[in-house]
Amino acid sequence: MFRKTRLFTPGPTPLLPAAQFAMAAADMHHRTPEFRALYSRVLQQLQTFIGTKNDVVAIAASGTGAMEAAVSNLTSPGDKVLVLTAGKFGERWACLAKAFHCSVESVTVPYGKTFSIEAIRERLTPDLRVVFMQATETSTGARHSVSKVAELLHGTDTLLVVDAITGLGTTNLDLDGDGIDVTIGGSQKALMVPPGMAYLAVSDRAWRRMESSRQPRYYFDLMKERKSAGKGESSYTPAVALVAALGAALDYIAAQANGDLAQGRRNLVANAELCAEVTRSAAQAIGLKLFAPSAPAAAVTAIQAPQGISSTDIVRRFKSQFGGILSDGQGEMKGQIFRIAHIGYLDFMDTIAIIAGLEQVLHELMPGSITLGDGLRAAQQTYQRVVAGRAAGEGR
Ligand SMILES: *Cc1c(COP(=O)(O)O)cnc(C)c1O
Repeated sequence: MFRKTRLFTPGPTPLLPAAQFAMAAADMHHRTPEFRALYSRVLQQLQTFIGTKNDVVAIAASGTGAMEAAVSNLTSPGDKVLVLTAGKFGERWACLAKAFHCSVESVTVPYGKTFSIEAIRERLTPDLRVVFMQATETSTGARHSVSKVAELLHGTDTLLVVDAITGLGTTNLDLDGDGIDVTIGGSQKALMVPPGMAYLAVSDRAWRRMESSRQPRYYFDLMKERKSAGKGESSYTPAVALVAALGAALDYIAAQANGDLAQGRRNLVANAELCAEVTRSAAQAIGLKLFAPSAPAAAVTAIQAPQGISSTDIVRRFKSQFGGILSDGQGEMKGQIFRIAHIGYLDFMDTIAIIAGLEQVLHELMPGSITLGDGLRAAQQTYQRVVAGRAAGEGR
């Protein structure tokens, strides 16, 4: 058997070769002019990638480290906070806020669903200090409307903190226009580099809130990090190789749009949207049910396992037969759903291969109930329609 291993997971995502080369060459000390130039440039590029004028700080941690930093820097024990939960990552916000002794309220909807704005409005009170949410709930494949929640909070003193770890690079967000206070991203998602770095864009009023926050913190001290960043440094030893990798990835995204990083990011989003739409149409043509049909994300598509089949078997077989790594459901969704990523360095060619492999795996797991090619045909037709629609849109 000869197989090529491929990640089709929503984090870590497949690595960009140029970023891998940059990592291998990053034999650099972090208190040197060379590193300071690199770090300053990467923080500035991250600002453009996120689409914000707010200060961006980076930390050596996985995405959850940045989520924890948002809680520990913006709240005080006893603060009333509201968490919007619809999956494993929403639940993580609630656990973090409880760990820091906040008074945690939540708006909870079933896995696969998104929130009713009315239900959130009912929970807003003048003493509410922070709302925490996801742009994309990676565990269910649902997209949440950051703009609508932001609109509800206009004119209040409530901060909005958005885990956009899989929202960035898959959704056209207008963070400054919407007035998002903190936006969080991670290296191993749309930016196509290994896990280990997270970054946060922070608004002026969120910086002001930090001055009065009384939570214990040391390593994840964002004000200290901002001060260091101003000098082109990080407070402690940074993940030097990952910083170099991020620089290469951001250059690559810009090069996809003749050097215009903001346009490159929009191209990345359009790619994810295309792959997601293609995947949804193929899944339905195969006879599969989507897990979050009412508000599907572009980062990842969650698909329900067919009756009588465990998604764990689909994922296992996909790997043993084709070397492709899909994601099973997280937590109690394990065995029930499987997830296909579209975020970062995955494109239409990858998507077509995933659909073909999936048809073959299902054909063997459910003899007689799959017609090979149904999903592929739907995928190709959707591609034609989306691309033609975009060309017509551009011509107008
Ligand atoms: C990947 C991810 C995170 C971060 O998880 P880590 O394992 O800590 O990197 C947080 N939120 C969402 C929505 C994610 O997809």
